[in-house]
Order: sequence, then C-alpha cells, then structure tokens
Amino acid sequence: MSKNQNKTGSYSFFNCIEKNFDKAARFISIEKGLLEQIKACNSVYRMHFPVKIGKEIKVVEAYRVQHSHHKLPCKGGIRYSMKVNQDEIMTLAALMTYKCAIVDVPFGGAKGGIKIDPQTISSENIEKITRRYTSELIKKNFIGPGIDVPAPDYGTGEREMSWIFDTFLSLRSGDVDALACVTGKPVSQGGVRGRKEATGLGVFYGVRELCHVKEDMDSVGLDVGLVGKRIIIQGLGNVGYHAASFFHESGAIIIALAEREGAIYNEKGLNVSKVFLHLKNNGSILNFPEAKNIEKTEKALELECDILIPAALENVIHKNNANRIKAKIIGEAANGPITPEADEILDKKGVIIVPDIYLNAGGVTVSYFEWLKNLSHVRYGRMEKKFRENVNAEFLQVIETVCKKKISIEEKKMILRGPREIDLVRSGLEDTMINGFHKICDLKKSLKIENMRTAAFVLSINKIIDSYEKLGIFP
Ligand code: NAD
Repeated sequence: MSKNQNKTGSYSFFNCIEKNFDKAARFISIEKGLLEQIKACNSVYRMHFPVKIGKEIKVVEAYRVQHSHHKLPCKGGIRYSMKVNQDEIMTLAALMTYKCAIVDVPFGGAKGGIKIDPQTISSENIEKITRRYTSELIKKNFIGPGIDVPAPDYGTGEREMSWIFDTFLSLRSGDVDALACVTGKPVSQGGVRGRKEATGLGVFYGVRELCHVKEDMDSVGLDVGLVGKRIIIQGLGNVGYHAASFFHESGAIIIALAEREGAIYNEKGLNVSKVFLHLKNNGSILNFPEAKNIEKTEKALELECDILIPAALENVIHKNNANRIKAKIIGEAANGPITPEADEILDKKGVIIVPDIYLNAGGVTVSYFEWLKNLSHVRYGRMEKKFRENVNAEFLQVIETVCKKKISIEEKKMILRGPREIDLVRSGLEDTMINGFHKICDLKKSLKIENMRTAAFVLSINKIIDSYEKLGIFP
C-alpha cells in the first residue's frame, strides 16, 4: 500500500494534493517550515446540527475548512453530497488556495460541505439545512465579507447562495456589505452577470489557449485550433453543461456526454442544448434520439477522442483505468479528477493534462468580480456605458468627416456600444485565463518542469511565499 492510500485502500485526497505540492517544492528553494505552513490547513470546523425533517430529528454532518489565511477573506464553494468528508473538504480548500494565487485573486482558500443527497431531499428541507448551516457558520465567525465567502460547488447553485445571504442578513442586519458574504447569487440578489457559466467558460478559454500552441499540438499529433476537435465531457451539471455549450459553439465536436445513469455517444457530434432539453424533460440523458446509449458511464472516459473533460467528481481517472484512456488532452474541469498514480501513467503516455488549479479557476475569478461589485454597491458598466457610447459617437463623426464616407447603421451599432456588465465580466475572465495559461507555460519552459500541473503549483506556491514574506510571520 502506498503512502497516499488509507487503510481501506482508497486514496486520501489531501495526501494526493500534498504529493503534487512536494513535486513542485523541488523547484523552490525556501525554508522548509514555510512550505509546511503553506501546505497545512489553518482551520477546520466540523459540525453536527439537528434539523427536523417531517416528524423526525435528523443530525446533519457538515464542514467549513479555511486552508489559508495568508490573504483574507477566505473563499471557496459549498458542496452537498453524501461523499462529503473532512479529507475531501480539506483538499478542496487547499486547491482553492493554489487556484486563487494562480489567477491573482486575493483570497485564501476555503471549502464547505454538507453530507446530504440533495436529489432525495425536498427543497423545503434543503432550505432548512442551508439556513441552519449558515447560522452555525455565523456563530463561529466562519462567514462574512472580510472573513470567509462561500460560493456554489457540486450540488449547490444560486438558490442555496440566496438562502445563505438572506440568513446572514437577518442575523447581521444593518451590515451594509452583507451582500458580499457569499457569491454565486442570482443577479436579482446582488449576483454578477456571467457567474453561472464562469467556470465552464474558463475551462473553454484554457483549453482553447492550449489548442493554439503549435508545439503542444504537434506533441500529441493534433492540428492547431479547436474547430473539429472531438470532445467527451463527464458531468452535465453547472460546469460540464456550460463548458460543453461553449465548445460546441466554437466548432468543436462533442462526441459523448456522460452522466450518473450512463453516457450517450454520436461520432458526428451531439447538439448540447438539445441534449440538455432532453435531460430536463426525461430526467436522464439516456435514449437521446440522435445518439447511442453507453450503459456504464465510466466507459465513456475510455472512448477514442482528442479532448476529455471530466466535470463531475474527483478520482474518476485512477490507476485501474488510466491505461485505457485514449484522449490526447485532459482538461480538469472538476477538482482532482485524476489520482497521482493515474497522473504518472498519463504523463508517460504523453497526454497533456491541463490542471484543475488553473483550469477551473474561472468560477472564483468571477466570484471575485461579484464580491467587488457587492462592496462597491454598483453594477459594472453603470457609470461608464453611456459615457463610452457618447465618446464613440463623437469619434465616429470625426472619422466620417475626415474620410468623407458614411458608416452603415449596423456598423455604427457595433462600434458605438458601451460595455455592459456581462461584457466586462467575460473580458476580465478571458484575460485572466489567457494570462494564467501563459504564466504557467513560461515557467514550465524556463525551469524545464515536466508538466503543467507541477508548473502551476510552482507558480502558485511562489506567489504565496511572496505574500508570507511581505506579511512577515510574527505572533
Ligand atoms: P453540479 O452538481 O452542478 O454538476 C455535477 C454533475 O455531475 C451532475 O449533473 C451530476 O449528476 C454529475 N455526476 C455525478 N456523478 C457522476 C458520475 N459518476 N458520472 C457522470 N456524471 C456524474 O456540480 P458542478 O458545480 O458542475 O461541479 C462539478 C465539478 O466542478 C466539481 O468537482 C466541482 O468541485 C468543480 N468546480 C465547480 C465550480 C463551480 O463554479 N460550480 C468551480 C470550480 C470547480
């Protein structure tokens, strides 16, 4: 049994991340104690609280972990799943720390989880549990705009974030910054346009960037560009659905989609919005008219394709199936979908892995924009949209006069438009993902690092070291 395996033979997720961290530490010369501090989880809050469900009292197990306080507030999603446990939440909190550093989001990493299956609980009871969880966090000072700011993750979405905000506000009434206590809220409740699709869009931007690097494409025998690339996506939830839609729109071919109940396949390509409608109407992606069913969902990961996007849960690619993976590129949309053993196998096969700590950072990037919006109490673009349109109009008039040529109404409409909130959010996200990609690749090249994951960790750890050094470590 390897050091990373626990007694039952299954992996300690936290040890997997430590292993990745240690690989990166070989490229960093700094006092060992500081590296140990960066690795360690700063605060772990494990709670049990009672909730009345029907006539019975149920005891609910839940967590909030703040991995790093080197920057505040801490930030990280909350997941609802029966698989939630301390090790998982600690790991996901640690990933948040590294992720935030890579994309220059000034937060420490955190994560929360409630051990429930939201698919089998009524929405009234999910609301009760969410509100009780929030009040437990408030009691222990584990939530607040400058303390710790949750967001959606697996099994949660805008609805839960709205309940968290409302509970926070009722217990902290008068706090003018209360909206910033949680992100991923609906736009009508202080959310920012573009947050819902941000993680999936970030995944798209990251993979698109890779597909434009000729050297990388040559190394896996693919043409430059996304058009025509055959893609498989596992998980058609928030991240997977939006990533699939953006890939589809860009001219890539989604050949298979996998969900819990099975997968569907069509080598000519699946229409993502039609599949999503079918899933909504039937409660399953199976029996989609234009596709073949694959009963064992995990078999979809092993199909021939160019790009594989795991967007469901951790550890889905492991030592037992890694050798059968045929994808040339794997984009980690989910957190920790590849175990360290599988990582080594895939590395040897020459597969390019775009790591989670970079690739799914679009969500936290746009959450940061939402937090800033909430603290500034003004919608992005509100102050400058009309001003920009007026300046553009004057500029156009000058051009028309100088060139003695009239610009068509359609062209004018395009040029005159001032930026809306969604335009600013998406351009901020795109810029962040492009910059992050090139910083990782430049470091990988300059230090001759073996893969993108290790390079991403080196980049992130260096930035955290810099923070600690500037902050000073004093009592
Ligand atoms: P989600 O709950 O919206 O969707 C997850 C989907 O995966 C669901 O449709 C579920 O049915 C499906 N699924 C579950 N088990 C499966 C299996 N064995 N095979 C195939 N499909 C399966 O969750 P999400 O928010 O999309 O999160 C997905 C992953 O992305 C998680 O690892 C999460 O931590 C990560 N992530 C999410 C965000 C975000 O903004 N939501 C940000 C960063 C990372």
